[in-house]
Amino acid sequence: MTAIYLDNNATTRTDPSVVEAMLPYFSESFGNASSAHSFGASVGEAVKAARQQLQALLGAAHDHEIIYTSGGTESDNAAILSALEAMPDRNEIVTSKVEHPAILSLCEHLEKTGRAKVHFIGVDKLGQLDIEAYRAALSDKVAIVSLMWANNETGTIFPIEGLAELAKQHGALFHTDAVQAAGKTSIVLKDSAIDMLSLSGHKLHGPKGIGALYVKKGVRFKPLIRGGHQERARRGGTENVPAIIGLGKAAELALAHMAEEQGRVKEMRDRLEKAVLQRVPNCLVNGDRNDRLPNTLNLAFEYVESEAILLHLNRAGVAASSGSACTSGSMEPSHVLKAMEVPEAALHGAVRFSFSRDNQASDVDRVIETLPPIVEKLREMSPFWADAEKKTNDKPVFA
Ligand SMILES: *Cc1c(COP(=O)(O)O)cnc(C)c1O
Repeated sequence: MTAIYLDNNATTRTDPSVVEAMLPYFSESFGNASSAHSFGASVGEAVKAARQQLQALLGAAHDHEIIYTSGGTESDNAAILSALEAMPDRNEIVTSKVEHPAILSLCEHLEKTGRAKVHFIGVDKLGQLDIEAYRAALSDKVAIVSLMWANNETGTIFPIEGLAELAKQHGALFHTDAVQAAGKTSIVLKDSAIDMLSLSGHKLHGPKGIGALYVKKGVRFKPLIRGGHQERARRGGTENVPAIIGLGKAAELALAHMAEEQGRVKEMRDRLEKAVLQRVPNCLVNGDRNDRLPNTLNLAFEYVESEAILLHLNRAGVAASSGSACTSGSMEPSHVLKAMEVPEAALHGAVRFSFSRDNQASDVDRVIETLPPIVEKLREMSPFWADAEKKTNDKPVFA
């Protein structure tokens, strides 16, 4: 029995053709991309070609708007720290309560050390931003707004272009963490109000430890990592050439497979959602079912611990997650679901299934077969379930 991987929001399998594209850059094409001699020149060309592949994925106007980084976390940190330095007369940041720790823990640190005042905007029950609170937080003191394009735990998509336009009205820079959106949904940055955007290789079938930060032409940028003149002096350090080539190839493939994400991948996700809601009582969907990544399904099972479900699923050969990889393994419920005010009974029973183009219809069949009996068995052992069943026997089932 081969194991089924449904944790693609945590990381994806590197596409075999990405690996193939990378291999020569470990051996015969080992030159330094910045060297002037023949060993470097061809490598420099390949690094430029990869930049153009990313430009195409993002619909960016210029390839030099792309800066290679070590991944999503570095891109997020670089964007925020750059804005604070580039706009010394502004010291406020606006972000949301449901961001990835790459943004949240940096913002908490900046606030604690007195380097910035941070507005953490809340969300509603679907995980959508509180627009009134967002408008109220914007002012000419805000250096940067950083809001994620799509949430890694629930897949909820923010109306990012409109949010960026509001930020611009106050002269603030606008950054979006698009690590989950890139490759799953169409992005066109040319003529957009978005100034900066983060993406990561390993979330789109590329290698780990490589990512990119898009910085719109004309936006002032202060480097996070200073050193040589690589990346037009915006990110020092010898280029990670094999990973850059892999990221470029992954971007090209993501663009080519975009319709499949919105088609076949979404169909698998929708079929799983429908089947589980039909078969399992007291189960709800976390996130905005109308504005959601096509690959993500976050289900909350009342009166069961997600860790117990995941353990049994893993034994049955199904790999899923309780949300962000960083919160799983601890008993602390997800900060995203807490911000969404998911009811207490469901807060501890959330399971995230995240698909990719690597999944097959038979994977969905397996989960539909294995998941309902696991939840049923665990509930039979729960005293809370026995109580709840007595109380809610004639209450309609969520569907
Ligand atoms: C995974 C992830 C990151 C971090 O990216 P790394 O490349 O792993 O550093 C940032 N933001 C979101 C939304 C993510 O899902």
